[in-house]
Amino acid sequence: PVPTVAVVGRPNVGKSTLVNRILGRRAAVVQDEPGVTRDRVAYDAEWAGRDFSLVDTGGWDPDAEGMAKAIAAQAELAIKTADVVVFVVDSRVGATDADEAAARILHRAKKRVILVANKVDSERMNSDVADLWSLGLGEPYPISALHGRGSGDLLDQIVWAF
Ligand code: GDP
Ligand code: MG
Repeated sequence: PVPTVAVVGRPNVGKSTLVNRILGRRAAVVQDEPGVTRDRVAYDAEWAGRDFSLVDTGGWDPDAEGMAKAIAAQAELAIKTADVVVFVVDSRVGATDADEAAARILHRAKKRVILVANKVDSERMNSDVADLWSLGLGEPYPISALHGRGSGDLLDQIVWAF
């Protein structure tokens, strides 16, 4: 079987937009309303001649406590089922309590975790990214899933992690 890459993170951080960017087509549903990707959807993906299965995740509870639990459950499942976990954070919002809770779970895992700072749409927004070192998951990769900025470098990181 091919390696599995799971994309996890809070609603609205841009997980489905990133999945579409990686696939090169609009397969995953992107919406301004959070919580549209109900559960897990796997897509066949390829980069630099390496095939992998790319899992978009979602599903959340509207109250904050429920959401933190849903993100934690998603992180646990990703650790169990994925070879590489791509953890997406909204660089404009910074690390929230739910992000920190998920990061603690991912940190304990023996799986490779790639921390992505999304919505870095321009060079001058790179400064928001350094704060995310505090999540303890190593270097944050600045990208703009919407515009494609940094996505090639991220894909290199993903396939090197197999
Ligand atoms: P998900 O809930 O994590 O899957 O997030 P979506 O992919 O559905 O995106 C949520 C919203 O964020 C949509 O309005 C996207 O267009 C927007 N978005 C996603 N990536 C970016 C980005 O890199 N830059 C900006 N400015 N907006 C983004
Ligand atoms: Mg989604």
